[in-house]
Amino acid sequence: ADFAPNDLETLQVLGHGNGGTVYKVRHKHTSVVYALKVVHSDSDPMIRRQVRREMDILRRTDSPYVVRCHGFFEKPSGDVAIVMEYMDVGTLDTLLKKNGTFSEAQLAVVARQVLNGLSYLHAHKIVHRDIKPSNLLVNQKMEVKIGDFGVSKMMCRTLDACNSYVGTCAYMSPERFDPDTYGGNYNGYSGDIWSLGLTLFELYVGHFPFLPAGQRPDWATLMCAICFGDPPTLPGQASLEFRSFIDCCLKKESSERWSASQLLSHPFLSKKSGNC
Ligand code: ATP
Ligand code: MG
Repeated sequence: ADFAPNDLETLQVLGHGNGGTVYKVRHKHTSVVYALKVVHSDSDPMIRRQVRREMDILRRTDSPYVVRCHGFFEKPSGDVAIVMEYMDVGTLDTLLKKNGTFSEAQLAVVARQVLNGLSYLHAHKIVHRDIKPSNLLVNQKMEVKIGDFGVSKMMCRTLDACNSYVGTCAYMSPERFDPDTYGGNYNGYSGDIWSLGLTLFELYVGHFPFLPAGQRPDWATLMCAICFGDPPTLPGQASLEFRSFIDCCLKKESSERWSASQLLSHPFLSKKSGNC
C-alpha cells in the first residue's frame, strides 16, 4: 500500500501475460526485490477489469501457499500495478522445461502445497479457475505458491458468472464445458481440483495429458476429448497411491471429485519427499 512507483527500480522483464507484463523490480531504499505486474492503461477494458479483480482477491488473501501481495498502485497515466512477492525460481512450467519431468516424491510435495493453497482459497470462497503449471510459482526454498488470480472469482458474487469461459481452456473441467452432464452439485471449487489433477499429470509425463507429446490441439478437439473421452490414465510405472490420487482429482462428475481438504489426507501425500 505504501509503495510509490518511483521507489521501484526495474531490473528485468519476467514474463508477458494477457495484456500485462511482469517485471523484476528492486525497492530503492530497502533493496528488497519484488515482482511487479503492470497492466497498461491502453489495454482492453476487460483485461483492466480483470487486474482490478485480481487486486481485490490478493488484498484478501494471507497464506504461505498463495503469492503474497505487498501493495498496489495506479499511475496517473492509468496503468495499474500489483507489487508481489518475487518467486525466484519461476513457474512449474519453466521448471518442467528446464529440468524435465517430476518424480512422484516431488509431485507429492507440490501437491501438498497447492492443496493447502486451494483449501485456504476455497474456505475463503475464492475459486482460482486457472490452475496450471505456469500459474504455480516456486522459490529457492522450494515453496510452491498459487499465483495469477486474473480470472479468479469470489463466490459471494453470482454463481452464474462462474460458468463463463475464462481461464485456459485446456485445463478446464468437463462441467465448465457441459454443466448439465457433469455438473452434479456444481460449485466451481471442484474445477480447481480437476485442473490440479491435469497439472500433476502433465508434470509427471511431460506433456498435456489429453494429447500425445508435441501436439497442439484446436479448441474443439480438446473439448471433445475432455467431455466425451475417459479421464486420462497414468502410465504403468506410476504407483497405486499416485494413480488413486489422480483418479480422485479427475472424476468427470464434479460431485464425485474429492475436495482440497479431503485430498490433503490422501495416502499419496505421505510419500517421502525427495529434492524438489
Ligand atoms: P499466463 O497466460 O502465462 O498465465 P498471465 O497473463 O496470466 O500469463 P502472469 O501469470 O501473472 O500473467 O505472469 C506472467 C509470467 O510472469 C509468469 O508466467 C511468470 O513467469 C512471471 N511471474 C508472475 N508472477 C511472478 C512472481 N510473483 N515472481 C516471479 N515471476 C512471476
Ligand atoms: Mg499466468
